[in-house]
Amino acid sequence: MSCRLSSRKHKPQNSIVQIREVTFGADNLVVMAGPCTIGDEADLLKVALSVKMMGAHVLRGGAFKTRTAHHTFQGLGETALKMMAGVRDKTGMPVVTEITDARDLDLVGRYADILQIGSRNMQNTVLLKAVGKSRCPVLLKRGFSNTIDEWLEAADYILAGGNEQVILCERGIRTFEYSTRFTLDILAVPVIKSLSHLPIIVDPSHAAGKRELVGSLAKAAVAAGADGLLIEVDCNPNKAPVDGRQTITTGQFAKLMPQLRAVANAVGRGL
Ligand code: PEP
Ligand code: MN
Repeated sequence: MSCRLSSRKHKPQNSIVQIREVTFGADNLVVMAGPCTIGDEADLLKVALSVKMMGAHVLRGGAFKTRTAHHTFQGLGETALKMMAGVRDKTGMPVVTEITDARDLDLVGRYADILQIGSRNMQNTVLLKAVGKSRCPVLLKRGFSNTIDEWLEAADYILAGGNEQVILCERGIRTFEYSTRFTLDILAVPVIKSLSHLPIIVDPSHAAGKRELVGSLAKAAVAAGADGLLIEVDCNPNKAPVDGRQTITTGQFAKLMPQLRAVANAVGRGL
């Protein structure tokens, strides 16, 4: 049996993923912040300038969404990608956005610095093979009903295409617990670190489902050894078209960043 490309057996040293000046998997952590979904360029610029000033490295924002319910807002598509590119030009921040369909690779690849594969598409092998052919870094979210083994197999679909720039993202899994949206599998962080050479970050927002719980999870993720965070932040989350309830305000983000820095320093990392 051949060993997995994502395994430490295949490659003992940590993989580093570089996006312009941003480095995943090195001593310093990477914070990616921004709204769940892009609705308006001026609003996006406001949140981008705000999170950048507080130390975020990458701007997040959805253009194509994988919503559970068919009747809900699915994102503005290319219009949103153009807004994102405009904000990137103005702020210099690299951007991460989701790709939901292999046929959109050229389109999304023209605008994104990091291609996000959402939880609901972790085992979409057509999409995984497509991004494997691209040379754009990929953020591979864990499917909320998938094991760590299945997640690493999904990463291999991308690596096998020759794209070595894969970042894993734990975002919560489904358990019997219903007081939170999902259950953050914090142990996935050290388990991935032992099994794989790939960088791993944590998304506390989708796991928590409620903004008042996001900070605790983010700090726990840093303490557990995550290489970075993906956090939903907006100026006015109560007006957000998607995931407003779990989106923290720019004010909350400003208070959280120094705490994250302190936790990172306590475990020998920088932020
Ligand atoms: C998102 O990042 O907005 C998102 C839809 O995440 P997930 O795929 O983890 O649900
Ligand atoms: Mn979201």
